[in-house]
Amino acid sequence: MSRTVLVTGGNRGIGLEIARTMADAGDKVAVTYRTGEPPADFFGVRCDVNDADDAQRALAEVVQQFGPVQVLVANAGVTKDALAPLMAEEDFRSVLETNLVSAFRFSRLVAPEMIRSRWGRIVFMSSVMGFLGSPGQVNYASSKAGLLGLTRSLAWELGSRNITVNMVTPGLIETDMIKGVKEKRRDALIAQTALRRTGTPAEVAEVVRFLTGNAASFVTGASIPVGGGLAMGQ
Ligand code: NDP
Repeated sequence: MSRTVLVTGGNRGIGLEIARTMADAGDKVAVTYRTGEPPADFFGVRCDVNDADDAQRALAEVVQQFGPVQVLVANAGVTKDALAPLMAEEDFRSVLETNLVSAFRFSRLVAPEMIRSRWGRIVFMSSVMGFLGSPGQVNYASSKAGLLGLTRSLAWELGSRNITVNMVTPGLIETDMIKGVKEKRRDALIAQTALRRTGTPAEVAEVVRFLTGNAASFVTGASIPVGGGLAMGQ
């Protein structure tokens, strides 16, 4: 079955790999991009996920192209690191806005059609840092921990309409996002990872694909770690 899939932040990194994986499985995939050009192989809609009007317009463009969104992968995310005493309140707020509020925003926009059709899949992109805590990342860790409450509450609200809501919780994944991580910190995190390595975007994308497929029809409200054993048991 070819579903309409929307991946936010789907122009690079984990989001782009999710888009590729879902398209390879036969889905109609739209991605949002904020900067640069949309990826060549996908229907791209420009969107700053922090802007509510922009999000609404972007969704309307996707619906016009492919029909109602059946699978939402709210993946867009940012870091703005600083130790808490030095972190500007605005940098706390803006990271929460991108990583948490925008996930809520998109799920709220796609939910009515999912409810009407009695089927839907929503996946949020969290991080092990939301569970471990991370020095210099109170904003990021708070946003990613907040996604757990969003996931579980929405799972309750939408479950009776055959809509599953889950979150994926990656460890250290090789993308632009971790290029700024200092070598010492990176080595320390790898040392705490049972598989003793970083992960690839493809390893995250496969789990997202599973969660959106029929094989995961009884999985909801779950946080699925994809961290090679980093933060095991959290
Ligand atoms: P990247 O930095 O490679 O990509 C981030 C994506 O988010 C880009 O597409 C970016 O768009 C988009 N984005 C950021 N802010 C906005 C915004 N305001 N509006 C629209 N799009 C926005 O990171 P990753 O691929 O690594 O991260 C993807 C997700 O995975 C994030 O939520 C991240 O927190 C999470 N994650 C990543 C981990 C890792 O180790 N890499 C580990 C755990 C979780 P643009 O290109 O325009 O900037």
